[in-house]
Amino acid sequence: MKIRHRLSLQFTLISGIILTTVFVIIYLLSARFVRNNFYKQLEGRALLTAEVYLEKDELTKMKFLEIEKSYQQGIPGESSNIYDSNNHAVFIEQAKYDWPASLLDNIRKHQTYRFSFRDKYGLGIYYPDNQGDFVVIVTARNAAGEQQLSYLLWSLVIMGLIALAVTYGMSQWYASRALRPIQNINREVKKIRATSLHQRVQRGSNKDEIDELALHFNELLAHMENAFEMQRSFVSNASHELRTPLTTIIGEIEVTMQKQRSAAEYQQTLETLLGESEKLKVITDGLLQLTRVDAVPDASQLEPIRLDEMLEALRISWSHQAPANELIVKLPANTTPEQLTLQGNPQLLAVAINNIIKNGFKFSGNTPVTATLEITSEGLLLSISDNGIGIPEAEQERVFMPLYRASNAHAYTGYGIGLAMTRKILQLHQARITVSSVAGQGTTFHCWFSNLTSF
Ligand code: ADP
Repeated sequence: MKIRHRLSLQFTLISGIILTTVFVIIYLLSARFVRNNFYKQLEGRALLTAEVYLEKDELTKMKFLEIEKSYQQGIPGESSNIYDSNNHAVFIEQAKYDWPASLLDNIRKHQTYRFSFRDKYGLGIYYPDNQGDFVVIVTARNAAGEQQLSYLLWSLVIMGLIALAVTYGMSQWYASRALRPIQNINREVKKIRATSLHQRVQRGSNKDEIDELALHFNELLAHMENAFEMQRSFVSNASHELRTPLTTIIGEIEVTMQKQRSAAEYQQTLETLLGESEKLKVITDGLLQLTRVDAVPDASQLEPIRLDEMLEALRISWSHQAPANELIVKLPANTTPEQLTLQGNPQLLAVAINNIIKNGFKFSGNTPVTATLEITSEGLLLSISDNGIGIPEAEQERVFMPLYRASNAHAYTGYGIGLAMTRKILQLHQARITVSSVAGQGTTFHCWFSNLTSF
């Protein structure tokens, strides 16, 4: 069942329950009022009957005639009885009913006593008089009251049905109006395919939950588009990087096979083939390593790592290489060793940091590289800067993708695997890496280690 119909039915059901409760209360209160009113009327009639039959001797003629006149205008179908203290019907012998002694005793006990009898209401009063103590009983059908109540009942039923029909119709209209933005989103989402991930769903003008849904859906689409783009770019980078050595290998073989060659020429060709094959091996090994870094090491492989000591070790290692490269290490003042320590895998972390330093030297023509360690509110921050060729702004995000090489880097050796590896290792250490660079001026990589660094 569609939400629209379900909502309308639920809403109508709730309204129905509320309406029925209210109408039942109205009906019961009205019925009580009509009954009480009728009993009051019967009481008046009983008093009048008593006065007509028992007060004749005590009233003036005028007064009595007046009372008798009112007595004539009785309730339709009314019947009256008067009983003396011996329970004998007196004055009105032709009475319709013969009331039991228990009822008469009850009336004497309560002075005024109400009862119902078949479809009639009855009321008795105890009337002590100079002629004796009497009981007067009047019974009648409340035809007018019953008619009023049945009119009220039908009015309530019809009003209730109309109200429910209107509620159902209005809730259908309201629900479909409220759900229209979702229907629109649904329609737009249906059209989006892997090839049209650039499309976005239209957002509403209200800042409500549906708008939030559209916003999050658009964000998801943007992520997916980005991921698809990265994947496409990876495949194209990978095929480019693998094709270059393969093309060289095939070309070299074809040229060599065109005629008989000397032993020295064959030697030369084989050397070229070896060099290009080694490149292929480096690339495939690099990709393989990259997938292996995904495996999360178990707790036994975790060790406390002093970042300042690791940087010092790397500085010494680079200074011993030929030609010697200068790594300038800047450490924060007044720190405890604990503040510079994090949990991790020292071999992997050294590879990650060294990849950045290596790039710094490579892309700056071996000029000094600076590694600065700072303590920030977010945790430890390691910044590695060089004054090299920089990275064009549009390409800065992509340099972390496997096999991606910036457009200004092709004159330098490399395969575009180092930074992808670095980012993966840092992610394993719950750290993130960002880059800021100005093409032609230099590059700084920032590694943010959170305080709670552990696998
Ligand atoms: P590689 O250095 O082998 O090309 P990386 O994955 O280490 O691969 O780097 C990817 C790309 O990022 C490089 O090709 C280069 O374009 C850019 N890059 C990385 N570090 C620097 C840097 N310090 N200065 C300029 N460009 C850099």
